Amino acid sequence: MPTTTKQDYYEQLGVPRKVAVKELRAAYRKLARKYHPDLNPGDKSAEEKFKQIQEAYDTLSDPKKRQMYDQFGFNIPGQGGAPPGGGHGQVSPEDIHFDFGGFDFGGQGNSAGGAAGNASFRDLFSQFFRGANAAQAGAAGQGREPGNDLEYQIDITFGEAMHGTVKKLSFTRLDTCNVCHGAGVAPGDEQTCPTCKGSGQVTQVSGKMRFQITCSRCGGSGKLRAICRNCGGDGRVQRVDNLDVRIPPGAQTGSRVRVAGRGNAGTHGGPPGDLYIITKVEPHPFFERRGDDLYTVVPITVTEASLGAKVEVPTIDGRAQVRIPPATDSGKKLRLREKGAPSVRNGGKRGDQIVEVQVVVPKPEDERVRNLLKELSKIDPEDPRREIFARATV
Ligand SMILES: [Zn+2]
Ligand SMILES: [Zn+2]
Repeated sequence: MPTTTKQDYYEQLGVPRKVAVKELRAAYRKLARKYHPDLNPGDKSAEEKFKQIQEAYDTLSDPKKRQMYDQFGFNIPGQGGAPPGGGHGQVSPEDIHFDFGGFDFGGQGNSAGGAAGNASFRDLFSQFFRGANAAQAGAAGQGREPGNDLEYQIDITFGEAMHGTVKKLSFTRLDTCNVCHGAGVAPGDEQTCPTCKGSGQVTQVSGKMRFQITCSRCGGSGKLRAICRNCGGDGRVQRVDNLDVRIPPGAQTGSRVRVAGRGNAGTHGGPPGDLYIITKVEPHPFFERRGDDLYTVVPITVTEASLGAKVEVPTIDGRAQVRIPPATDSGKKLRLREKGAPSVRNGGKRGDQIVEVQVVVPKPEDERVRNLLKELSKIDPEDPRREIFARATV
């Protein structure tokens, strides 16, 4: 029967009570590697610590067990022992019956005392909920999990986004360990687990009751192998990967390119995740992208606006001519068909370039210009405000 130190499961793993599953697993793996018996041969205290960590993780990684533990701690009525840390109040036998699916605790009258009582409860615990998570308890971890997706951002210039480019990406990912090929165990022969002698089950005695529980050392497989030192048993190692990323013409900020299978490797043969490359396009001082259209503001003179003109404007393909119709007001938007951004979704079909004209008012310093403008106002005494009074009636 294990000696019970009664340390809180959360404390054993060094995690807060609200810990998320992911952090919980990370904390467990770190400690399990540190205290693994194969890495600490002959060290009894490490072995004991390893068992405790496994037991704590076994409980907290199972949502049902964790809920039970959060509610009851190690404590059950009639068996002595105090609730851990925060205390969880009184528990009525009905609650226990409900959660254990009708198992009868009645009339045990166990006099084994606090420590033994706790131990028996823990044994029941692992017995009742053994199964789904049992494999994870294996020393080398037999959990087959898919690898995470990875996301990397690539910064590109506006020009690169318009014309497309190839960027070199250097990124870190977890790759399958090339020593153990992802198994997490050192190459070589399997050994029979000395704890359960290969049966995968161990017997524990609590008072008058005997329980068969899954061997925590081998996770029920009955076999042990030394964990791989290259990857610490995870089956994966960090590696810097290089990739030429082809950015298609028309890429926008937030465009995602998926590279299948280049995310983190899975554990123990699980499939790899994908790599997502997200583009971020530098803003351009002249061209502003809206959808696949490019907005531009182009200054014109009063004369050009009034009489009409052909003016040259910049486009992403170079200069282009725009015809300003006579009597063009400031703010008018002219459209240059298919001079906008290539559409990634639409097979490279181009948007339009919008030219918003901005009439630049002459600021005459020359006396002759001033006189000409005065003469103009005499010849053509238009009142641009006449019409607004009719509209502004309140
Ligand atoms: Zn390895
Ligand atoms: Zn075993």
